[in-house]
Amino acid sequence: MRPNALEAFNELRDQNILNLKGAKAAGKKVVGIYCSYCPKELVLAAGAVPVSLCGTREEPIAAAEKHLPRNLCPLIKSSYGFAVTDTCPYFHFSDMIVGETTCDGKKKMFELMQDIKPVHVMHLPQVADREASLKLWHSELVRLQDELEERLGIKITDQDLREAIHISSEQRRARMELFNLNQGRAALISGTEMLTVSWQVGFCVDQQEGIDLIDGLTAELRELAGMGYRVSDESSPRILLTGTPVGLGSEKVITLVEELGGLVVAMQNCGGYNIADLEIDASDTRDPLLLLAENYLKIPCSVMSPNQRRLKLLERMIKEFQIDGVIDLTWQACHTFNVESFLVADLVKNRMGIPFLQIETDYSSSDKENLRVRIEAFLEITSDNNR
Ligand code: SF4
Ligand code: SF4
Repeated sequence: MRPNALEAFNELRDQNILNLKGAKAAGKKVVGIYCSYCPKELVLAAGAVPVSLCGTREEPIAAAEKHLPRNLCPLIKSSYGFAVTDTCPYFHFSDMIVGETTCDGKKKMFELMQDIKPVHVMHLPQVADREASLKLWHSELVRLQDELEERLGIKITDQDLREAIHISSEQRRARMELFNLNQGRAALISGTEMLTVSWQVGFCVDQQEGIDLIDGLTAELRELAGMGYRVSDESSPRILLTGTPVGLGSEKVITLVEELGGLVVAMQNCGGYNIADLEIDASDTRDPLLLLAENYLKIPCSVMSPNQRRLKLLERMIKEFQIDGVIDLTWQACHTFNVESFLVADLVKNRMGIPFLQIETDYSSSDKENLRVRIEAFLEITSDNNR
C-alpha cells in the first residue's frame, strides 16, 4: 500500500519545467533565489515566479572549480557550476537573481555570478534579536522591492504583499500539517518522501497547486493511517536530521539511514521545519514589509550569531517527534554549521541524553561506504538506548 498522492510529486519535476516554459512564453518573469532568508512573498507580490536555485548535485562542481576554490562548500560550488554551465533550466529562465550575504563563500560567489545574470544582493544582519538588525533588514526589503519594481517594470502594492503573505502562510501551514503526521510513534512518511515533496513543490509555478498537492497527500495519509498504514514499525530508530540544507541529489545521508533500518522522521533545516515553522500573522495590519522582516530574521540558521533559536527549536522537535537519535549534517567547508555542531552536540547528548552523530561530507559518493559503517553503528546505539 503506497499513497497514490505521492506519485504526483515524482511527476512534478518534468511538469514544473514545462509549466515554467509556458509561463515565460506568456510573459511571466522568473526570479531565482538561493536562500530561505529571501522573502519570496516579495517576488510573488511582483507577479513573478520565485524558483529556488540551490545546487544539490555533484555534476556541475568540476566546472565551478575552474573559478572557485576546491575547498568550498559543495552547495556553493554546485549552485555556481549550474550557472556557469547553463545546465539548470530554472537558472536559465531566471530574469534576475536575488543573492544574500549569509556565509562568506556564498556572498563572494555572487560577485562572480554577476557576470552571468543580474544579481541583487541583500545584506543580511547576523544578529537576529536587535532593533538595529530589524531596521537594516527592513531597509533591505525596501531595496529589494525597489529593484523588483524597476527591473520588472511593475508596482508592488500593500495589497499585493498581503495576498502573497497569505499564500505563503498557507504553504507553510500545509507543510507543517504534513510534517507533523510523523509526531506519532508510527511514522506515516519517510524522510526520502518528505524531501521529495518539499523539494518538488518549491518549483511549482502555481503556488496554490503545491498547497493542494500537499493537502491531498496529508488527507490520504490520515485516511490510510486509519487502515493501519505505517512506513516503519514502532521499533525503527526515529532520527532527526539537522544542519545544512539537503535536496534531491544530495540526500545520501537520508538514503543511508533509511536503507539501514532507521527513519528520518523530522528535518530541522531549510526545506524542513526551519521555514515551515515561521508564522506570519496575515491579519496583522502593520507595514507588510516590516512583518516579513521580523519573521524572516527568526530563521534559525547558523549564520546568525548567537543562534539560540536553533537550539530551542531542536529541543522542542526532539520532544514532539519522540526522537531516538540526532544526525547533524555539515557540508564540507561550512564553518558556521561545523562550529555550531559543538553546541548542538552539547544540547542533544549532554543535556537531553539522546545519541548524536555529526557527519561532515560533500556531494560525492566516495565516502558512502565509510558513512554506511558509521550510520549503522549509530543506529545500533539508538536502538540500544530505546530498549
Ligand atoms: S542554511 Fe542558512 S544560508 Fe543556507 S539556505 Fe538556509 S538560511 Fe540560507
Ligand atoms: S551550507 Fe554553509 S557554507 Fe554552504 S552555503 Fe550554506 S551556510 Fe554557506
